[in-house]
Amino acid sequence: MSKTCPSCNGKNIAKIFWGLPADMKSIEEALERKEIVLGGCNVTSNDPKLECNDCYHRW
Ligand SMILES: [Zn+2]
Repeated sequence: MSKTCPSCNGKNIAKIFWGLPADMKSIEEALERKEIVLGGCNVTSNDPKLECNDCYHRW
């Protein structure tokens, strides 16, 4: 991934998965690689899309 954290300039960025995954198995690997994190099931229109694995900033 080529995204950069606006808070700490880190490049260790995960996508935030909102809602309940239909198939937990399919996202387990991505979770372990910290490519995605679970955001929870309260989905609103202005949820952050990405989370920094270093400072946990979300944007
Ligand atoms: Zn950061």
